Amino acid sequence: MTVLASEAVPIPRRPMIAVTYSSGEIARFRGKRDMFESIINAGGAPLAIDCVSPVDTMEEIVSRVDGLIISGGGDVSAAVSGVDPDDPLLGGVNEARDANEIAALRTAMAHGIPVFAICRGCQLVNVALGGELYADVPRDFDDSIRHTSTPDEMRHGLHGVTIEPGSTLSRWIGGATRAEVNSNHHQAVKTPAPGARVTAHSDDGLIEAYEIAESNIVAVQWHPEVQWVNDPVSLQLLTSFVAEAEAYRDRTTTDL
Ligand code: MN
Repeated sequence: MTVLASEAVPIPRRPMIAVTYSSGEIARFRGKRDMFESIINAGGAPLAIDCVSPVDTMEEIVSRVDGLIISGGGDVSAAVSGVDPDDPLLGGVNEARDANEIAALRTAMAHGIPVFAICRGCQLVNVALGGELYADVPRDFDDSIRHTSTPDEMRHGLHGVTIEPGSTLSRWIGGATRAEVNSNHHQAVKTPAPGARVTAHSDDGLIEAYEIAESNIVAVQWHPEVQWVNDPVSLQLLTSFVAEAEAYRDRTTTDL
């Protein structure tokens, strides 16, 4: 029996989700495997963008995807974040990654592509759009709640967050206004970028999430892509983001 190309089986059309990372950060590869598995389980098709060196084609790549995840990693460089460049607690800086992710963010915003910014991504988007960071949370803000974890602890909630009713974040998880989230960050948003609405705080008062609704940006300081294996709410966050990407695809694609 002959199968003509024109009679081929339907192509699965999972929304394509670009994920920024850097192969220069070997220690963080385990976390990226979690990321790719979580996107697949949330119904998306993950596409890795390696930000280890300048990516001149970033606009070409990101303009073709349905969603962008700016993922976790080391500290944003002081030149971008505005913190003291001589701060001894600044770590894991990767300037190529900063530049690439800012280019990816700009492209997504220009097209209206949904953006989910996670941990470092939450911090990077905030400073790229004019906000400020705490260079080190225990030293510069408060140390009453622990925000850093071992890898095993990251599979479970470490601290609670209170979520703003009516926010995209709350809508994504069925209207809930409270969640137990994991945590592994020593920096955090100090002043939100102009236009950003803070959508979650931890019990010490630290900003743990924000959104910029008109740009389809949701940012969280925790890691649902790691916690999801033990936590339906984390998977719900990812599934809801993939649904936003699917909606973007459906309103911008005409060749269905
Ligand atoms: Mn935290």
